[in-house]
Amino acid sequence: MSNAFSNAMKQLDVAAKYLDFEPEILDKLRSPKRAFNFSLPVKMDNGTTKTFEGYRVQYNDARGPFKGGIRFHPKADMNEVKALSFWMTIKCAVVGIPFGGGKGGVTVDPKKLSATELENLSRAYARALGKNIGPYIDVPAPDVYTTPQIMAWMMDEYEKLVGCHAPGVITGKPLSVGGSLGRDTATAQGAFYVLQSLAKKIRLNKKASLAIQGFGNAGYHLARLAYDAGYVIKAIADSRGGIVALDAKGFDPKEVVVYKENNGELGSNKTKYKKIVSEKVLEEKVDVVVPAALENQITLKNVGKIKAAVVLEVANGPTTPEADVKLFKKSVVVCPDVLTNAGGVTVSYFEWVQNLQGYYWTEKEVFSKLQPIMESSFAAVWDISQEKKVDLRTASFVLAIKRVVEAMKARGY
Ligand code: GLU
Repeated sequence: MSNAFSNAMKQLDVAAKYLDFEPEILDKLRSPKRAFNFSLPVKMDNGTTKTFEGYRVQYNDARGPFKGGIRFHPKADMNEVKALSFWMTIKCAVVGIPFGGGKGGVTVDPKKLSATELENLSRAYARALGKNIGPYIDVPAPDVYTTPQIMAWMMDEYEKLVGCHAPGVITGKPLSVGGSLGRDTATAQGAFYVLQSLAKKIRLNKKASLAIQGFGNAGYHLARLAYDAGYVIKAIADSRGGIVALDAKGFDPKEVVVYKENNGELGSNKTKYKKIVSEKVLEEKVDVVVPAALENQITLKNVGKIKAAVVLEVANGPTTPEADVKLFKKSVVVCPDVLTNAGGVTVSYFEWVQNLQGYYWTEKEVFSKLQPIMESSFAAVWDISQEKKVDLRTASFVLAIKRVVEAMKARGY
């Protein structure tokens, strides 16, 4: 989305009003430390060579190595990657893990590539970055449409370059090559801890209903966890369309995922449902809407139609700053991306720690370390929002920017 970075800067401006820093420091936060833009020639199965455009933005590393995923998407561009790398800087600081922020991307529709072409592209991407990434420099990870397998190819390419094992160069890897137990469900698990913490604060009904936009890794697992905890999953949408349950009990996400695997589209043969277009899912009459797909989904165009009391942002950047203002005025609680989806990068941090130690944890250990981080981060953000009478996004930014600036100052920037 072309305005993602300007949206991110508007969010920074709002938070800056509550922070007392020299303008030079805040100015420094308005541009990335480094940005790479490269062309990636890839050998296709039919013998031709196709060139793709790739990006990596290393935004801020005051608190530790740059950290953030790589997205393969037809609409990925430098502006979007820059915004996402800024949000990673904020996100890592909100949960207090020792990383800065970075992000990468390739403009490509990976669904149109064969497995060999995808491997060639992934390896080309890692080669293009070369030694500009590394366990103590910049640690990529998966994002939209990138997988553990892609991480393994990239790690392998990097290890060829440095001539030794270096699993800490990238996270979100398969377990067989140094991945962490729990990483695949971590984003959803973290978002679920946040939802539970919020539910206590605002006394959300135990059987509150959810409408979820995005039924990928994060959206599906969140639906599953919420369903198992007694929430009602009333509506689900993926990029092809949405379904709304006619039955008051809603959907069992496990049935929907099986149906999707077999039929390529959503629909649950056991439940009566009505079909809707994807965007409409956020306008459903539910207690909580969960944007878990892409940026700019709640805008001035549809914000008036949001009926939920809570927006739980599992995607990065789903609400525009203008829509944020309207939601706050309507007393809709927006649980921001930089807090809500930080479980993913937090378990990436655990993966990196395990890689550096060469000592691996059980899934139970992973989640027992994730839960207090998510809960205490939520509590810290909540307290700032109450104290300053601001929304949770502004409170998250205030907390994060303080931490980033403290590190910048300690380094003598
Ligand atoms: N792509 C994920 C995010 O946006 C995870 C990043 C990571 O694990 O480094 O938070």
